[in-house]
Amino acid sequence: MTAQLTPIEEALAHLLGKAPVITATERLPLTESFGRILAQDYQAPADVPPADNSSVDGYALRAEDYVPGQALLVSDRIPAGSAPSPLKPGTAARIFTGSEIPAGADTVIMQERVEVTDSGILINAEVKADQNIRRRGQDLAKGSLALGKGTKIRAQEMGLLASIGLAEVTLVKKLRVAILSTGDELVDPGTPLGPGQIYNTNRFTLLALLAEAGCEVVLCETLKDTRTATRETLERAATQADLIITSGGVSVGEEDHVRAVLEEFGELSLWRLAIKPGKPLAFGSIKGTPVFGLPGNPASVLVTFLMVAMPYIRTGQGRLRIHPVGLQLPAAFNTTSTSVRREFIRARIESVNAEARVSAYPNQSSGVLSSACWADGLAVVPEHSTVAEGSLLTYYPFTELLS
Ligand code: AMP
Ligand code: MG
Repeated sequence: MTAQLTPIEEALAHLLGKAPVITATERLPLTESFGRILAQDYQAPADVPPADNSSVDGYALRAEDYVPGQALLVSDRIPAGSAPSPLKPGTAARIFTGSEIPAGADTVIMQERVEVTDSGILINAEVKADQNIRRRGQDLAKGSLALGKGTKIRAQEMGLLASIGLAEVTLVKKLRVAILSTGDELVDPGTPLGPGQIYNTNRFTLLALLAEAGCEVVLCETLKDTRTATRETLERAATQADLIITSGGVSVGEEDHVRAVLEEFGELSLWRLAIKPGKPLAFGSIKGTPVFGLPGNPASVLVTFLMVAMPYIRTGQGRLRIHPVGLQLPAAFNTTSTSVRREFIRARIESVNAEARVSAYPNQSSGVLSSACWADGLAVVPEHSTVAEGSLLTYYPFTELLS
């Protein structure tokens, strides 16, 4: 095992090549599909919308029937949800948003442009065919692809699946991920802190990150810094989960047992990345189950999970897009890196003289998790580079990194 720092691209290529793609699926009610991944393509079985319909409240007519200044008789009333009769030639029909356009009508005039008189309606607008009509199939044509396999279901995908009439969907089974925190100093929130103790923060950050990533969490007890406890807990987690994520214990101290246990009793295929924060990240397996050994510092956990573990999880989920897309935005700060490590800065977009600029949290210590609460994303400071105010840098919104 080399102590060289592995560039992140190289690390990702290695990891993604190893990620097992989940083939197990489950069928669930659409109501339970939020945040999950589609396991198959879905085509529209019929046109959406199924018929031409009005986009406004108003009057449907045939454009050429209208003679300016002459009142047009209103011969019908078509509430939404009813099946309209064909329009009588030379008349108009009262119509509402979402009502089907009657056969024989080719335009809808919004009611604000119409004066209702005893002898019919007068129109204060130019009357042209094709106005205010939402065409049948304009959203999805019958037989076209509504959503592809590997799509993550957000609110809009849930709505779209409902619009093609699906009550149940076939989803990729959730990846089961065990969370394991190491550290003799850790206690769970709710207990008073004794001397030398701190609260276990990472367990909660990871719990929420995995929930957002659409994974099922297996929570393991907090691990004492001993070789035996580390080995036993890792081996047990390996039988319960598809992936294990640990925090802490991957550095070079003699109390850092995760990496050592992987090396001795499993496999260690990656250790030490050229990134900041997060350098000591380890990857390997125990009893055949992949293990991400994330560093212990709370901000390092967040950064390494988002930049390294998320692409791996997306690959396992069979997602359409694996790598996040960054935005190119001008920096609102100056910094110089003399390091071979690519830096991921907790940052956010702020408006400076009406221009979007990326601001950095002043304290970028990997122990400062407030930096990530202040931030909306991560900005990249490339290795051996200078970022000057106004120069472009890559910015990844958290929403993109967790998408
Ligand atoms: P380690 O890599 O185990 O040496 O941990 C690095 C730093 O992160 C130490 O200051 C630890 O106390 C801290 N740390 C490790 N695990 C956690 C955790 N679960 N919650 C909060 N801080 C942690
Ligand atoms: Mg530790």
